Amino acid sequence: MTLGELERLVVELGQKAYQAKYIFSFVHAKNAAAVSDITPLSKAFRETLGARGYFISQLKTLDCLADPDGSRKYLFELADGERVEAVLLRDEQRLTLCVSTQVGCAMGCAFCATGRIQLRRSLTAGEIADEVNQAEQDAGKINNVVYMGMGEPFENYDAVLKSIRILNHASGKNIGIRHITISTCGVAPAIVRLADEDVRPRLAISLNAPSDPLRRRIMPIARKYPLAELLKAVHTYQARTQQRVTFEYVLIDKLNDSTAHAHLLVKLLRGIPCNVNLIEHNPYPGCELAGSSRDRIARFASVLTDAGVETVTRFRLGRQIQAACGQLQAGYGRARS
Ligand code: SF4
Repeated sequence: MTLGELERLVVELGQKAYQAKYIFSFVHAKNAAAVSDITPLSKAFRETLGARGYFISQLKTLDCLADPDGSRKYLFELADGERVEAVLLRDEQRLTLCVSTQVGCAMGCAFCATGRIQLRRSLTAGEIADEVNQAEQDAGKINNVVYMGMGEPFENYDAVLKSIRILNHASGKNIGIRHITISTCGVAPAIVRLADEDVRPRLAISLNAPSDPLRRRIMPIARKYPLAELLKAVHTYQARTQQRVTFEYVLIDKLNDSTAHAHLLVKLLRGIPCNVNLIEHNPYPGCELAGSSRDRIARFASVLTDAGVETVTRFRLGRQIQAACGQLQAGYGRARS
């Protein structure tokens, strides 16, 4: 529940609205596990909440794998037995959690293990926020949240925005809105919709190809929203928000990683305030696509930087524990095989 929803609930139960703040901050700032832990509430009110069936739902951590590079992969079980993964990344003292928004994904990007499982269901806002709670109980304060785990966040738009409101709220985790990033495979209408929201996280777009024919080969969403429509949505978004966007580009060996592709990309992004994240492709079991060599990545990156495009190359983190970009499948791939 958001703080507003909690306020309505406590008033309905005959209490003063400010009591909701205690509940919200104990659940989200202090990661309380049970209603009985919310000690600023009277014992009688805590008992009333319990008697009416209110409880603090929690994901069950089934597994936590640690990579030598400091990243961790959590396997969470939801109340109905479905499973999702979240990945913790360490950057000096800062902790970033990559959260999942759906069990599986309907988008079917060729380079991604999650797409192979197809969509089983979307997560609720509470389940998404709880991924952060559970990771904090293990690793400490999370500084950044990126919506780049399993699922397409904009296919679960309302729950994602609600979870962001919860994580961003000053009485809860208070994670700054500029420390929250939504990554989309290119759902153009949702990009325009986000521009009008009262909370506006950073926006990243998974691009991966500089032309429609190539993009259609690796991302089925490109059939629905071709590049012209996608970039028009970005233009509208930027006209309304004045915010830079990030384009992500997964480099796949001899498919989208030539210098000719890089020059096309420069042309495509001309005039768009943006930066580009180049990501090494991380093969998963059964994936036919190979990652580009470091040499090819370096040549691709230098075309971009020479043309003045702000470019960061993200080398693999969490690869040994299948926690890198595109490798999350929460055991469904193994179960299926
Ligand atoms: S890359 Fe993202 S949108 Fe594409 S299949 Fe994987 S989880 Fe879905």
